[in-house]
Amino acid sequence: MKLIHSFQTRIAGSLFLLMLVVITLVYLTVKAATEASAVRQSYDQLDTGARVFRQVLDGRCRRLNDAVRVLAADFGFRDAVASGDVPTLRSVLANHGARVGAGDTYLLDMDGRLIASTVAAHSEGERLPGAVGAVNDGSCVLAGTGLPQLRVTVPVRAPLPIAQVVMSFAMDQAMAQEFRSLINLDVVFLGEAALMASTLPDEQGRQLVQELARAPGTGDGWQLTLGGRLYQVKRLTLGTQDHPVYVYLLRALDVALAEFEPLLRQLALIAGGALLAALLGALWLARNLAQPLRQLSVMSWRIGQGDYAVKVEVPRQDEFGRLAQVLEEMRQGIAEREQRLNHNALHDALTGLPNRLLAEERLRVFIATQSQVSLLYLGLDGFQAINESAGVAGGDRILRMVAERAQVLLAGRGCVSRPVGDEFLVQACRMGLEGAVGLAEQLRLSLAEPIEWEGQLFRLSCRIGVVEYPRHGDDPNQLIERARSAMLDAGQLPDRLRVYDEGRDAAQQRRLQLVQDLPLAGERGELMLVFQPKVALQGSGPHQAEVLLRWRHAELGMVSPGEFIPLAERSGSMAGLTRWVIQATIRQLALWQTQGREVKVSLNVSAVDLADTQLPERVMGWLDDAGVSARQLTFEITESAIMADPEAAIALLTRLSILGIRLSVDDYGTGQASLAHLKRLPVDELKIDQSFVKELAPGNDDAVIVRSTIEMGHNLGLEVVAEGVEEARALALLRSWGCDVIQGYYISRPVPAAEFEAWMERQSMPVLEALS
Ligand code: C2E
Ligand code: CA
Ligand code: CA
Repeated sequence: MKLIHSFQTRIAGSLFLLMLVVITLVYLTVKAATEASAVRQSYDQLDTGARVFRQVLDGRCRRLNDAVRVLAADFGFRDAVASGDVPTLRSVLANHGARVGAGDTYLLDMDGRLIASTVAAHSEGERLPGAVGAVNDGSCVLAGTGLPQLRVTVPVRAPLPIAQVVMSFAMDQAMAQEFRSLINLDVVFLGEAALMASTLPDEQGRQLVQELARAPGTGDGWQLTLGGRLYQVKRLTLGTQDHPVYVYLLRALDVALAEFEPLLRQLALIAGGALLAALLGALWLARNLAQPLRQLSVMSWRIGQGDYAVKVEVPRQDEFGRLAQVLEEMRQGIAEREQRLNHNALHDALTGLPNRLLAEERLRVFIATQSQVSLLYLGLDGFQAINESAGVAGGDRILRMVAERAQVLLAGRGCVSRPVGDEFLVQACRMGLEGAVGLAEQLRLSLAEPIEWEGQLFRLSCRIGVVEYPRHGDDPNQLIERARSAMLDAGQLPDRLRVYDEGRDAAQQRRLQLVQDLPLAGERGELMLVFQPKVALQGSGPHQAEVLLRWRHAELGMVSPGEFIPLAERSGSMAGLTRWVIQATIRQLALWQTQGREVKVSLNVSAVDLADTQLPERVMGWLDDAGVSARQLTFEITESAIMADPEAAIALLTRLSILGIRLSVDDYGTGQASLAHLKRLPVDELKIDQSFVKELAPGNDDAVIVRSTIEMGHNLGLEVVAEGVEEARALALLRSWGCDVIQGYYISRPVPAAEFEAWMERQSMPVLEALS
């Protein structure tokens, strides 16, 4: 986690540093370029300033020249010159000079001696200082001593030159200030090594003179530091070679740079903004990179911890996405391998059944969630011999067949496991001892079905030990051990089945034996049918009877259906019994048909039979085979059987009804079949339970119930049958209430087929008349 974190920080940090360097470099480069450009511009400005300075100076000279020329050409003035009238001349010079804004004005003779002047300090005949040799007809010159001056000299002609007028302008502080404001540069006039005028502050002016004394400089620009400020300087040379006058133009560089200050500030702002954006971008990028990495790291960690449940998913198209895909494939591979390993650890590799460990675990769960669990421990007989004759592959196949058959029989009601080699453990949920013994018998029968292997047929036999939770313990391991020890004991018994626990009572022993023997009763010829006649009270028709099952057990003798039918239902043998009864009945009907007897029979169908969705087709097949009509059959179903699962019952009964089989609600009045259900059922008949009929007497409760039931049945369009008619009184009442059919000991007990045939013979004469 820390590593990732530092990875993210490092990416962000590196990117940010990179951007910092780039942006700083850009900033510094632009700053340097800006400054260089400022310096260059500054020099340009100095050049421009110098040019402007010269032009303005020239302009002044020209104007001065023109003004002096006008004076020199003035007739009166010439006259005054010619006459030598000095006071007049002085006043004219003063007036004219003032008009053109000149400084000192002089009139000289042709030898350069003063005739008149506006300067009181000069006297006539004196030579004008600094003017000699500098006189240049009509031009502007600068004199060398004292303050430099702009000077214009114009001859006075009459017509030959008789004198010359000189007007001057001092290049003083005022002029320097004027130029400064014109060209926006500091101006310094420097005569022969002396400062004449300067717009610089005094201190800097003095420093400038000192600096120039060391290095006078050239006409090109250069830089000087004065009073702590950096200046650019340019020199103009005026005057003559002997008496030069230097004009220095100066520009403080900080001023020039100050102009670029806003630009640089803006640049700094932009750079700052760019840096911030870079920082945010770097953080985002780092996060974007680090997040999938972190996800992947968490997922790898989980896989490392053995948690393979969560899919590795990083929905990206890039390298991270591909890495996640690889990781996901890895996870699936590991998960599959681990699942296989887990499965192998808890399952038997040969049959795929749970092993002893898992069986125990399952049992623990069953015990915790089910009220009743039975365990059947099955050991195959002589498997060693089978292995020898069938070979290892054959033995394996046979073991797999055993597993398969046990699972088919259990039909999801529990769990089949294989603790060791040739032993199997069946756990059946919600099944008591009787059910378990029934299941054991079915298992034995199922295993007895031959298995073919390379031309040999193998019939398996086995010994089975049975325990039941909670009767025989509540510890899974102990229960399995007890079942196994019962199995080992079973090897000594003739029926090879043993229920753990010695202290069973005789009744239970009998029940278990019945359960054990039920599946074989049909094969052993112990079952038979009896027929109890039914008599229609109105009109005549074919003979009718209810078919009832009888079991004559080889050792226990006659067993009543009241005893074995519930046992069969609990032990899973009922379906087999029903099948036997239906087939035997159809055979009997076919036989009677050949004897020219037309008989309609009712037979009883249990709740478990209603769950057998293939029953209608099977019955139809048997009827077709025997050439018996479905109309000859009525199926009796008790109210409680219907109510156990009304939807399934309605579905199956509807199919039976469509095939033409009549349906009757047996034991009517003892259950809670609602009228609503009755209306939805395709039933044809109500059979009032014998408990209401046996003691039927005029005016008693049963009479009320039976009479109203008959009426209600008729209102619903149903035929009504009363069973349990034991007395003539009951018969008379039923007849008076319009009951359709009666059945009971008063007419006949259930009797074997031959006796029923005799009964039918006796019916050739109107028996009921005889009865009444
Ligand atoms: P059930 O369907 O109500 O059959 C009628 C029972 O009442 C029969 O007893 C019959 O012998 C008896 N009975 C008939 N008339 C009288 C009478 O006047 N008085 C008295 N006290 N009893 C009379 P059984 O044969 O012992 O059968 C008992 C029950 O066993 C039957 O009751 C039926 O529920 C079941 N059962 C019998 N055979 C079969 C069968 O083949 N399949 C199915 N699923 N159940 C059967
Ligand atoms: Ca019945
Ligand atoms: Ca009945």
